[in-house]
Amino acid sequence: MKNRKENSPMEIYIHIPFCIRKCDYCDFLSGPSGPEEQADYVQALLREIQAVEEGEGRSVSSIFIGGGTPSVLDERLLGDILREIRNRFKMEEDAEITIEVNPGTANIGKLQAYREMGINRLSIGLQSPEDRELKILGRIHNYGQFLETYQEARTVGFDNINIDLMSAIPDQTYEGWVKNLRTVAELEPEHISAYSLIVEEGTPFAARKLNLPDEDTEYNMYEATAQILKEYGFEQYEISNYARKGRECRHNVGYWTRQDYLGFGLGASSLYGKERFANTADMKKYLKNSKNPEKIREKEPSLTREDEMAEFMFLGLRMTKGISKADFQRCFGCTIESVYGEVLEKYESMELLLEKDGRIFLSREGIHVSNSIMAEFLL
Ligand code: SF4
Repeated sequence: MKNRKENSPMEIYIHIPFCIRKCDYCDFLSGPSGPEEQADYVQALLREIQAVEEGEGRSVSSIFIGGGTPSVLDERLLGDILREIRNRFKMEEDAEITIEVNPGTANIGKLQAYREMGINRLSIGLQSPEDRELKILGRIHNYGQFLETYQEARTVGFDNINIDLMSAIPDQTYEGWVKNLRTVAELEPEHISAYSLIVEEGTPFAARKLNLPDEDTEYNMYEATAQILKEYGFEQYEISNYARKGRECRHNVGYWTRQDYLGFGLGASSLYGKERFANTADMKKYLKNSKNPEKIREKEPSLTREDEMAEFMFLGLRMTKGISKADFQRCFGCTIESVYGEVLEKYESMELLLEKDGRIFLSREGIHVSNSIMAEFLL
């Protein structure tokens, strides 16, 4: 496969589709499983990693082990996966290696094993420090269990930890959200991801009558998030992500800047050069055919130059620093104005897009209507 980005590093995503129990709002590709199913899945994953052709000679700058709840896996299985990745690919020495962990699924022994296998970043799914809200969400853990996991992670030496938080939970007030933010910020993690609840079709939440915060409250919650986290030393660097200086998630920044990535596992998606493809979401098909990646991939048509330009814009604009006009010109051989002049003019005149030092980015108001702005970059 020809790839003009082949001299730059790439990233790897590994999907672990297992959870102890399904949360009531979740539509991710995940579900409960037993030890046998997990072991069979990891074997299939190893076969896929051994068989892929892409990535030959490329260095790997980050691995993200996501799910589901990757921490439900026996640590030895996880060790097998990382060993295979290292056999097959050239890892950068300081590569960022993240695993998603849910409280109640990782004890100190497991966390220690993660450190020993080179995992250097944890992303802990807390969602709320209020037990009442955790119950509403259908989470398996309480805040006490989270605190235990968090403190054990620090004890074994993790110095790069993200905490996931959710706003606009049913019955949540503005004051409740602010209290949650302060409680978590005071723990001094390196990174906080703060997403608002989206009620997805087909989930138990969609079938329930929920008392959700109104639009104005949601707006105020979002604005308060950036202001309060700033007080604690976090800078917002993406629509939903806040980090201490230098602790931005490198893997996600790679995604928003269209670095190549290969996804392994059920339903995992990839970007490689001009190709975007995703693995099947059918477990039986995956287990049977993973040694033959072509058989498990669902391909999209190759990206055209216009598709790449649109992706450059709507992924790059997710970041608060926005996109560089010079980078656009370097990538596509033409000025950004010659392609998007009209759209840029429209939104700059409305002060929803701003321009400074050769970069274009969303204003605070622009962030609130980002979906409609991004849609206009599709060619
Ligand atoms: S732990 Fe995460 S992936 Fe698993 S069911 Fe809950 S929200 Fe979904």
